[in-house]
Amino acid sequence: MKSEFDFLIIGSGIAGLTYAIKVANQLPNAKIAIVTKADEKESNTKYAQGGIAVVIDEISDSYEQHVNDTLKSGDGLCKKEIVEIVVNEGPQRFNELVEWGVNFDKQKDGEYNLGLEGGHSKNRILHHKDITGFEIEETLLKQVYKNANIHLFSEHFAIDLITEHHLDSKSENHLCYGAYIFDAATQEIIPFTSKITLLATGGIGQVYQNTTNPTIATGDGIAMAYRAKIKIESMEFIQFHPTALYHSTTNPSFLISEAVRGFGALLRDKSGELFMHHYDDRKELASRDIVSRAIDSELKKSGDECVYLDCRHLNMTQFKKHFPNILQKMQEIGIDLKKEMIPVVPAAHYLCGGISVNEFGQSSIQNLYACGECTYTGLHGANRLASNSLLEALV
Ligand SMILES: Cc1cc2nc3c(=O)[nH]c(=O)nc-3n(C[C@H](O)[C@H](O)[C@H](O)COP(=O)(O)OP(=O)(O)OC[C@H]3O[C@@H](n4cnc5c(N)ncnc54)[C@H](O)[C@@H]3O)c2cc1C
Repeated sequence: MKSEFDFLIIGSGIAGLTYAIKVANQLPNAKIAIVTKADEKESNTKYAQGGIAVVIDEISDSYEQHVNDTLKSGDGLCKKEIVEIVVNEGPQRFNELVEWGVNFDKQKDGEYNLGLEGGHSKNRILHHKDITGFEIEETLLKQVYKNANIHLFSEHFAIDLITEHHLDSKSENHLCYGAYIFDAATQEIIPFTSKITLLATGGIGQVYQNTTNPTIATGDGIAMAYRAKIKIESMEFIQFHPTALYHSTTNPSFLISEAVRGFGALLRDKSGELFMHHYDDRKELASRDIVSRAIDSELKKSGDECVYLDCRHLNMTQFKKHFPNILQKMQEIGIDLKKEMIPVVPAAHYLCGGISVNEFGQSSIQNLYACGECTYTGLHGANRLASNSLLEALV
């Protein structure tokens, strides 16, 4: 069996879905396929908690400040021109999400409720409670279902790209013609051919024992690209989230969003001592690499297995409003946030490197594009600024 398309999109997270919707809107006659290896909702996107970093309030915030925060977080290794493109286009891409129906939390006065996260000098995180990714994924899928020219294939696993690399491994001028796809229901491998192929296969968290990423995050797109001799960059820059729940018996580890520290939660060691002031002036709100390394250093010194996130002093009515999902999880595992602290450890969270692409998402071979977490665009440098990844995938 052979399937022919104009566009083949591999992955149904924010990157793949928004690309499909935009192509379908601009080219109503194009035949578009989205293949995704599990249920179509399953993705890192679905689990994003904190939100999207966008400069929406130009009075208290500025593009320049968002650019500077991103550069600082990236430790001198970001590509400034890419940072500027992503930050400057943020409001347009955010407005598209709103037009498609994604709901973001607002205050009583009708203005967006802007959260604060580590490494950001201003409140600029747009969110939907603490389930922003779920809200985005559901809404984008509704748009996809409405589009007659998008054909969605769930439980279809991309195995390898179709290029000339099997025939002539030395040539630099390879083209991409689509991908070989395994249909889990029929157990057949089907060549999906296409004029344009987009890899939007997400990150690699499951390579690590402790990770916040769901089981789909196994780096398949990057591996496929590597096998096809496509350029890969900066794979050494893995971001560890400082505060994954410790002693969770589940894979993936449950994430305690950065926004909880933005809301005032404090990190303490086993004996109740604060320690972040020893590492950075921004204390709990230093960027993720600094907070993760600080926790790791404390654990190595003390021999303890985890540190603690203290929410006991916080307004629980407001906490419930902002973090209902986290509160529910704590109740399920028997932690009373008014009396007890949350045991936390760092966990593999985000891949800053990946398939090398230019500002148009073009890879090093013709007709193959990539976007989202599977790519290296140069936005994140050595370390992603919190909530910049949903934004990058959109832009
Ligand atoms: C717990 C958690 C919280 C987060 N919170 C935030 C946040 O608040 N703000 C923020 O900006 N970022 C956050 N992130 C990161 C962000 O969610 C991801 O970087 C982003 O969603 C990646 O989107 P994507 O479309 O590139 O990949 P994904 O959403 O991971 O989608 C990848 C898709 O590819 C499919 N796929 C993979 N391999 C194959 C294959 N071989 N064949 C077919 N299909 C395949 C998967 O099934 C999936 O559908 C968070 C991540 C996690 C895990």
